[in-house]
Amino acid sequence: MKSEELYALLRRRGVLWPTAEIYGGAQGLYDYGPLGTALKRRLEDAWTAWFVGRSPDYYRIEPSVIVPEAVVRASGHLENFTDPEISCDRCGAHFRAETVLEKVRPEGVDGLAPNQIEEVVRANGLRCPSCGSTTLSVPKPFNLMFDLPFGVGRDERAYLLPETAQASYLAFARMWEVGRKALPLGVAVVGRVFRNEIAPRQVLFRMRAFTQAELQIFFDPAEPPGHLGPRAEELVPVLRADRREQGATDTQLVAARDLVAGGLPEFYVDHLVHMLRFLRDVLGYPAERLRFFEKSEKERAFYNRIQFDAELELESLGGPKEVGAVHYRGDYDLGRHGAASGKDLSVSRPSGRVVPHVLELTFGVDRNLWALADTHLRQDGDRTVWKLPSYLAPVPVGVFPLIAKEHRAYAERLVADLAVAGVEAAYDEASSIGKRYARMDEAGTPFCVTVDGGTVGDGPERDTVTLRARDSKAQERLPATALAARIAPTLRPPRPGPG
Ligand SMILES: [Zn+2]
Repeated sequence: MKSEELYALLRRRGVLWPTAEIYGGAQGLYDYGPLGTALKRRLEDAWTAWFVGRSPDYYRIEPSVIVPEAVVRASGHLENFTDPEISCDRCGAHFRAETVLEKVRPEGVDGLAPNQIEEVVRANGLRCPSCGSTTLSVPKPFNLMFDLPFGVGRDERAYLLPETAQASYLAFARMWEVGRKALPLGVAVVGRVFRNEIAPRQVLFRMRAFTQAELQIFFDPAEPPGHLGPRAEELVPVLRADRREQGATDTQLVAARDLVAGGLPEFYVDHLVHMLRFLRDVLGYPAERLRFFEKSEKERAFYNRIQFDAELELESLGGPKEVGAVHYRGDYDLGRHGAASGKDLSVSRPSGRVVPHVLELTFGVDRNLWALADTHLRQDGDRTVWKLPSYLAPVPVGVFPLIAKEHRAYAERLVADLAVAGVEAAYDEASSIGKRYARMDEAGTPFCVTVDGGTVGDGPERDTVTLRARDSKAQERLPATALAARIAPTLRPPRPGPG
């Protein structure tokens, strides 16, 4: 589906809509409706089960979204969290430099200094995307953080959190005391972050307030976390930076063991595989649309020693888009916050005092919610079916009375009984059974249950119901009391196996 078509469908079903829609919306801000809220919660639960569930020493915390200036000064965000901006002297429009250079430099402007960007603009005679004139300004860095006057006198400076990672670094010293003083220690945050994007666009892909799910793994570089074990043979789709520099654009399938033999640390490859399995096996993205795109030394942030972005080919957005990433950040973060705060963030290890290194697993919740619509919403004849895995479905079960006034009481009781058993069900008595199925198919509901005359009668079908599966459309008759045991196991998100 095209982006506009997909967005229209999501809005119509109340998955999401623009913030302040009655006022014409607000750039880069969206609200989630009932289906979107439920899907987002299940996506976050699946992420938590898969990543935080990997070790008893990994924890989730919920930090403040406002931080004092000292934090973003030490982290480097005050100085470096910028996007090159170009404005037009004639019409006054502001653009990301990347947008102005899009046609001549599709690979983006990462790693280019403002004067290099300007050279590209002049050499190609680039024009204002808005009015077409050649009156483009010299590119200048634009800081993406929202600052806010803080305190009663409004004289202190604070910032809205630009990335959840900082909250985990701030929490490290406390978490070391709270936990069992062992490495690796994982501190995860699923939370809102805020960026004053120059040009919000592509709905959930460049927002000004959005949700990140990030796990920071603190470890002793002498004992890095993760061994491939049986995962050594896993084929990982990669586009390596050195091949790209030679002009290659094709994804290669490389066994995890060969990535290690080629020089990547085993712990790093292990986490690439873990991320791959989440995207492919848990979220169900088609394997052939996934790849890990390696950022070169020039392209990645200077503190990242290794960076592969997980990219997914999206039909709606016309190409591969970043949906997650694995960053090896070394000791940059704890080193900077240790020096700036004056607090010793090194810990005692068999080899002496060590400032832990950080491996960051990052995941964009909103982007992936969009991606789940792009990849899983299917046209099946005249049906629109959202083929979400059961554990991600916003509404797992629909319960219908065949004839409202005769079967309503039984169906309502069934909804209540399922809720007690931990299975959320939606009651629907409006219009024909076929139309009710269609509504549930579009909402991603994997199971529908119909209560009919047999259910409430005195014959052999008493207390049995019809269970219909979304994908196969297969129907079967079973006792109402057997529903919860049948459905509940499919609603638990997969967890990583041992090792
Ligand atoms: Zn202009």
